[in-house]
Amino acid sequence: MKILIATGNPHKLRELTAILPDKLRAGTPLQYVSLADFPQLHLPPETGKTLEENAALKACYAAKQTGLITVSDDTGLEVEALNGAPGVHTARYAGEDVDADENNRKLLHALEGKLLPQRKARFRTVACLVTPQGEVRTFEGVLDGYIGFGYRGTNGFGYDPLFLIAGTTKALAELTEAQKNKISHRGQAFKKLATQLAAVFP
Ligand code: IMP
Repeated sequence: MKILIATGNPHKLRELTAILPDKLRAGTPLQYVSLADFPQLHLPPETGKTLEENAALKACYAAKQTGLITVSDDTGLEVEALNGAPGVHTARYAGEDVDADENNRKLLHALEGKLLPQRKARFRTVACLVTPQGEVRTFEGVLDGYIGFGYRGTNGFGYDPLFLIAGTTKALAELTEAQKNKISHRGQAFKKLATQLAAVFP
């Protein structure tokens, strides 16, 4: 059975196929495809007000266009002192078409003068599954931490060099990919989704 992962990002595809099961309980093999297999399919803009809305928007659109069981995700960085910002605007915090460095510098600037306890943040991922019956289910994964005072580590992507993992002395960018996947917001959301996949198709 084919399942579409609604992303064109090869890094995310690799991360998610490592978490999702390769067969159903009854032994039916699962084959994962991504947007790279559907070059004519372009996801709609993320106009939702919440991560849940954006994840569902992407999965429902891709499921409708392809007729496949589809999974998607949307992730936001929520900083307590900024009332949950950048949230749904995480990818474009410093503006449209900006790179990770510009987003990170804007975040450091926004928190200037704040001590560690005032720099609490969390990554939140909402994973979405559209079942063959067209039902939409969402699953949440959260990673708590703090925004650091400068860049640390060279692994990962996005805000990883600024994100200090709660209860550790490390930034996400100081973990290997496997270490990050074990604890990450995305990992947790997709582990929940994986359990449901098995339940939806016994
Ligand atoms: P998306 O919903 O997965 O596309 O993520 C939106 C934005 O959140 C990305 O452009 C990244 O800047 C940021 N982001 C998502 N996941 C992570 C992560 O695991 N580490 C660091 N930044 C992330």
